Amino acid sequence: LRSYYDAESDSYIPKGENLGIVITGGANGVGFAYAKEFLRLGHRVVIADVANLDAPVAALKREFGEAAPVFAKRTDVSVWADVDALGDFAAESLGAVHHWINNAGVNGGRRALLDVPVSEVQKVVQVNLLGKIFCTKRALELLGKQEGVTSHLYNTVGSGVKGGGTPGYACYGATKRGLPQFTDSLKRELEEGVQGYEKKEMPGDVKVHTLSPGMVFTKLLLEDSTPELRKFPFGVLAAQPEEVAQDLVPKILAAGDSGTSVEFLGTDRILTKFFERFVLQK
Ligand code: ADP
Repeated sequence: LRSYYDAESDSYIPKGENLGIVITGGANGVGFAYAKEFLRLGHRVVIADVANLDAPVAALKREFGEAAPVFAKRTDVSVWADVDALGDFAAESLGAVHHWINNAGVNGGRRALLDVPVSEVQKVVQVNLLGKIFCTKRALELLGKQEGVTSHLYNTVGSGVKGGGTPGYACYGATKRGLPQFTDSLKRELEEGVQGYEKKEMPGDVKVHTLSPGMVFTKLLLEDSTPELRKFPFGVLAAQPEEVAQDLVPKILAAGDSGTSVEFLGTDRILTKFFERFVLQK
């Protein structure tokens, strides 16, 4: 059940279908677009979100039929009991889980730290960082038990936040830049174990990756920008969720072959440049 890169058609060809996929934050935006793309390719999907899931499920069933293998679970990723229950739900609805995508997140907006209410500081850290750590821990427990199955776990990291600091995004940036370190540490832990401790032997083969959708066109991005930036044709420059999903889903399906980092390298590069120039330098 692996995919391969086909140089002739310059695309990833997924081998096998009917894989089990879990997507947190699957009700909207990129998460929803991932779900659509996985269903289109013949896989089975659990979408988990704190937002209402009726509308996204109805939309997917309209597109792929009443019997489309999409399962929804209301989950607040920052609440352990919810995340724990999501693990059980995923196992029950999908059998084996092959790809678990930690995509849920909040932005919090661009503001000076002194102006950010404590409740929002807490929310950004709890959803973006703690939520991903909770989901990773639960997924690892589940995937590790799947005897003879190779499975993949992805943590979405923001590529809009660069090293050297990003004014207005101190908390958000902290959560985003913490994730590659978390994910890389876990990757090594799975390969090497922890010095001084017996290596955890698991029946299932779990691989962990970072996932970078880059900067996606959202209302928030527009609201956050300077008047100069708003004049630019965003529709042309920024990546639409569908565009990101169509690029990333085949790469996700091929993750076993392509290393630890899965990146969307389309319009992101252009937009990041604009973002740094007009938004961050304001
Ligand atoms: P993007 O498309 O850029 O990822 P969105 O805001 O459209 O941004 O998607 C993020 C998703 O994460 C939304 O569907 C949102 O409801 C979800 N989300 C936000 N907070 C939580 C949370 N605590 N638990 C689960 N899902 C969450």
